[in-house]
Amino acid sequence: MVETVAAPVLAGAERSLQMEYAIRDVVLPARELEKQGHKVLKLNIGDPCAYGFQPPEHMIQALYDAARDNANGYTASEGDPLFVDAIVRREKRRNGLDYAPSDVLVTTGVTEGLQLLLGASVRPGDEVLVPGPAYPPYDSLVRYFGGTPVHYRSLEDEDWQPDVDDVRRRITPRTKAVCLINPNNPTGALYTEPVVKEFTDLVGEHRKQCFLVSDEIYDEMTFDGVQKASAAVAPDVPMVTLNGMSKVYLVPGWRLGHMLWNDPAGALSEIKAGVLKAARNRLCANSVCQRAGAAALDGPQDHIAQVNATLKERRDYTLKRLDGIDGISCARPDGAFYAFPRIDGLEQGPWRDDMEFVLDLLKEEKVLAVHGSGFDAGSGAGHFRIVILPDLGTLEDAFDRLERFMARRLGDAA
Ligand code: PLP
Repeated sequence: MVETVAAPVLAGAERSLQMEYAIRDVVLPARELEKQGHKVLKLNIGDPCAYGFQPPEHMIQALYDAARDNANGYTASEGDPLFVDAIVRREKRRNGLDYAPSDVLVTTGVTEGLQLLLGASVRPGDEVLVPGPAYPPYDSLVRYFGGTPVHYRSLEDEDWQPDVDDVRRRITPRTKAVCLINPNNPTGALYTEPVVKEFTDLVGEHRKQCFLVSDEIYDEMTFDGVQKASAAVAPDVPMVTLNGMSKVYLVPGWRLGHMLWNDPAGALSEIKAGVLKAARNRLCANSVCQRAGAAALDGPQDHIAQVNATLKERRDYTLKRLDGIDGISCARPDGAFYAFPRIDGLEQGPWRDDMEFVLDLLKEEKVLAVHGSGFDAGSGAGHFRIVILPDLGTLEDAFDRLERFMARRLGDAA
């Protein structure tokens, strides 16, 4: 949905005007309904805090302590050494990886990390392979820097595992980077270790021209299996891992992320130099949050298992309910906090596409989801994304409304 802009006096830049962010686009019509006094059940926001989850108390205390101890100044552009060292320790502890502090760059969220990385690597005409479907900034940022995002297939029948053969087919001499998002947004897919191995090996075969971008922001948020870090599976493949505190540590508004450089042969040295130059130009990430981030990584981790147990229960309930609704089916998410149901009844219903479906659901039942085509016009079409974050009572209400909506609208069209 493109925002209408008053008749321009000065021309705007195409690269910004083309940017879209499906997840926030659907919020405008929902706000209109709220202004009219309707209560909207929001299943669209990938923010645990919006659904009552809270970071553990020791993180809040550490944030307060940091401000009181006057850690309020700028930090080094690469990050506060206290936080950097905590990230290095965390990687050793969780993934058995030996990063040096110089392999770490602290960013204002994974989103800034992605922006810095693509800005330093994508040249006009370059292609970047992105999962189909994927978190929207992957597409829009590649385009912003003059490159072309190319979606590779994910296999819905296999709970949205990436199709490595399709990745192989889509690598061309112009491919500069290949992105993996594990667990994935919007599908909730947790990639199996053999698939990660096959995928990373494939990128390794092409190491003279491209590198791997591994987004692991949901790494500890899994329900049945355990996420395996790409760098642990393929330590010799040139890659940059993106991670952060927004999801697992429940503080998306703190805007804390980091990049990990895994580059044994020095293939990425120029790209890294560009990232560091750009990082200096934006000064640093939030200072007090970095201190609290260090406390989070070094402190008790109990909240992670608690959150996962809660989400697992909500995931199971979501699948049970969706399974019982005619015209809807859903692959099983094993991580993150999303489900990506398929609208099997799209053709039988009155809707032209998934966007119309989502707007109709909003208008009729006041349930807000995100249209699947916002995550990839190809593979995302005919789907919608919901979060499994709300409590069971809210989910029950939302699925009752969805069930009623499908029965009525498919009935109308019959
Ligand atoms: N990467 C993925 C796959 C995401 O789903 C999100 C947020 O939804 C982000 C990155 C954004 O992370 P951050 O809050 O660290 O910018």
